[in-house]
Amino acid sequence: MSAASLASPATCPVCHGQRTAVRWSQRPDRLFRATSGRFDLHACADCRTAFVHPVPNGAELAAFYPETYWVGPTDREQGAGVPGGLLERYRRFVLRDHVRFTGKVVADQRAAGMAVRVLDVGCGDGSFLEALGVPGSLGMDLSKTALRAVRARGFGAVRGVLDDCPIRPGSCSLVTSFHFLEHVHPIEPVLASMRRLLAPGGEIVVQVPNADCLQAKILGRHWAGYDVPRHLVNYTARTLRQVVERCGFEVLAENQQCLRDNPTTLSNSLVPGLYPPSRMSRAGGHGGLLGALANMVYLGFTVASMPFSWFEAALGRGASVMLRARPRDGAR
Ligand SMILES: [Zn+2]
Repeated sequence: MSAASLASPATCPVCHGQRTAVRWSQRPDRLFRATSGRFDLHACADCRTAFVHPVPNGAELAAFYPETYWVGPTDREQGAGVPGGLLERYRRFVLRDHVRFTGKVVADQRAAGMAVRVLDVGCGDGSFLEALGVPGSLGMDLSKTALRAVRARGFGAVRGVLDDCPIRPGSCSLVTSFHFLEHVHPIEPVLASMRRLLAPGGEIVVQVPNADCLQAKILGRHWAGYDVPRHLVNYTARTLRQVVERCGFEVLAENQQCLRDNPTTLSNSLVPGLYPPSRMSRAGGHGGLLGALANMVYLGFTVASMPFSWFEAALGRGASVMLRARPRDGAR
């Protein structure tokens, strides 16, 4: 245990309990190697949530995110050496679970006569917004590269964070955030900000890695879903629901099948060095024969991971969890 964690007892970010202890100490940044630092993952004896403690400060956290963390190669912008927009077609294909789950909300809102306006928080390169296809949608991110890509797709782009943004309260029918909430601590102000942005009848769709999945059970500290030190709090399907409900939302639907994220989490656990955005961040590029070969091997691991990912999700132990929720009492 580090001196800092001895000095400040860790409070569980989910149940706020004090019965916490180090589960895995001195964990490295396996996936991106953005820092040589080591980090302790603590766990709560009551709700079993694993979390990074102490939480790195804002400047430290910012340094853990290479530009390629949120934005992969964009063949539209860069040519990327991928023929015929193959990468875009692949992205669109693997986003189908996100689009199906979120598209249901959009369809329900349209059927109810609502004006649909989507804000995607932590939008990355905007490929989800494009696949969802709702005109007038907005993407929010901190990465300038990401926001350029979002604009190139024809959507509005807002640089910032939820509690300090120029979007009018009550002006969005749907706020989405995929693989974002696990990066923030505490979560309560973030969910409150989402709630403020919602119009009457508005909803949120949020997704995080599910630390209760079979992959995590089998692989333990080597499960890539922990993504130390960027994932500050590791939710499960149960604890995500718990915090969302505590923050004044009613959960309407849950999904654990996710073609884009679940098999890649398994690949990233097994061959973290081959994860394309991670290689790009180190090499400063992704071209060349070796790069193409590494991409092919990584794709092979990902395809081979698909049956297991499907199986664990069918058991309710999927590698990610997506919730659809609305403010209780219709409150905003
Ligand atoms: Zn707890």
